[in-house]
Amino acid sequence: MSVNNSYPKTTNETVLAYAPGSAERQALIAELGAQQSVVLDIPAVVGGKRITSGDTGTVTAPHDHAQQLGRIHNASAATIDAAIGAAIAAQRDWSHATLAERSAVFLKAADLLAGPWRARLNAATMLGQGKTAYQAEIDSACELIDFLRFNVQFAHELSAMQPISSRGLRNHLEYRPLEGFVYAVTPFNFTAIGGNLAIAPALMGNTVLWKPAATASLSNYLFMELLEAAGLPKGVINFVPGDPVAVSNAVLARPELAGIHFTGSTAVFDTLWGEVGRNVSRYRSYPRLVGETGGKDFVLAHPSADAETLAVALLRGAFEYQGQKCSAASRAYIPASLWPQVRERLVALVETIRMGDVTDFTNFMGAVIDRRAFDRIHGHLQRASQDSSVKVITGGRADDSVGYFIEPTVLQVDNPRHTLMETELFGPVLSVYVYADSHWPEVLALVDSTSPYALTGAVFATDRAAIAQAADALRFAAGNFYINDKPTGAVVGQQPFGGARRSGTNDKAGSALNLLRWVSPRTVKETFVPAAEYRYPHMAD
Ligand code: NAD
Repeated sequence: MSVNNSYPKTTNETVLAYAPGSAERQALIAELGAQQSVVLDIPAVVGGKRITSGDTGTVTAPHDHAQQLGRIHNASAATIDAAIGAAIAAQRDWSHATLAERSAVFLKAADLLAGPWRARLNAATMLGQGKTAYQAEIDSACELIDFLRFNVQFAHELSAMQPISSRGLRNHLEYRPLEGFVYAVTPFNFTAIGGNLAIAPALMGNTVLWKPAATASLSNYLFMELLEAAGLPKGVINFVPGDPVAVSNAVLARPELAGIHFTGSTAVFDTLWGEVGRNVSRYRSYPRLVGETGGKDFVLAHPSADAETLAVALLRGAFEYQGQKCSAASRAYIPASLWPQVRERLVALVETIRMGDVTDFTNFMGAVIDRRAFDRIHGHLQRASQDSSVKVITGGRADDSVGYFIEPTVLQVDNPRHTLMETELFGPVLSVYVYADSHWPEVLALVDSTSPYALTGAVFATDRAAIAQAADALRFAAGNFYINDKPTGAVVGQQPFGGARRSGTNDKAGSALNLLRWVSPRTVKETFVPAAEYRYPHMAD
């Protein structure tokens, strides 16, 4: 990788407002209409070729499950093999392209997405993944643009990290890609994550087989088309929708598997890791395993917290995008002295939330992603309603007659180790435990030990000593820790994202730390005038 520092310095993409009458709103409305009037074919893209199949699935709108948006062509065994072959074949040329050449593709993609492709990606994310205009804008526009641009900046900064050379010799670290191909397995909930899991290894010179989540395949396919429009060479990223088990089994059996870039549930990552472990001796190199997984993210309030801003943070943290963010606030610990005020404010605010069709811009929430998610969350709500140790503070109902709608729900539990405080529900459900003010030290230990995850968490307090205590006691309870802010909304370049324990390998998407996982550096030492004598001076007679 050659050093070339002439790349544009990056700042975060500005979030557009979509206010009534704005140009961006008009463009988005036009694009929503266009996408709702067709059923887009979503083929595999292998070595630049579109491959359809007789085995199809559908993408439907979560807010209106009768509305079909896309027809997914699930990859056959032959297509999966062809995709692996295309990735391996493309590696030589791509890994020999300079960082500047590779960067140009992704910088162009960023500008296309910031400009002419913005409405298209946002509309697909709204319709296919059930996001409001704002939630789509911060995901499929701003975060993805930031990933494209900041990765380029970080890659250049890494390439400038070089060892010292002393007189008579030159040392150099060559940031080679991994040998083989990278398997990107991506989640439904962020178009930006889908894209980033494929482009981060590719920027570092790797070639990729990208398996999208079926429910996100509309926006993900459009992003694949955008990368092609930006000049990504054929075969560098191969887009392979299909049965996750069939694709994974074929990929993990290959000796050329060099790495897995995964975001999704803990259970699936465990399965992939287990399979790699079973196959380990057949791989040419030890595969890099990078996985960002589940969360049970906390909000802890100290008695000194401000009740008003806490209520707003709980609402936004728990209910934006229907609670389907890995970082969503899903367990809260509120002191008894503050609870009446927080409850009253929270309930009053939640009752004003408008939920419905995401193309109606007055809505704050849409539906959950699919039937499986609806049934899972609804099941939890039904059990909660019959559990005498759980009080429904607000919400609790669900309606799947048109779309997969779950009311924003606040539950109060008596038992701080109730399953509602431990299990990731991945829906608009906030569980609250009210603690005696004097039990602050015990509550710190409780928050730390209740869930197996350690992704995000927030402390609300005005007392600085309490903030310091919480930051220390909860040092390993969250990879992204917030003080007087909601635990969601990490921004690329500002809050590198990821958690430990059962939340993943914490390789911090949106930072140089992540890019480091996709290189296998070669150290090169050149001696200018090699020794002509083997004996050392101390050996003289
Ligand atoms: P998921 O685990 O169901 O799916 C993720 C991907 O794995 C999809 O592409 C899916 O098709 C594939 N998959 C499913 N079963 C598989 C199998 N048996 N073998 C191989 N691949 C398989 O997750 P999801 O529902 O798409 O996303 C929600 C989950 O993702 C939540 O747990 C959430 O916390 C997590 N998430 C984590 C982060 C993070 O940064 N930590 C970010 C976003 C989402």
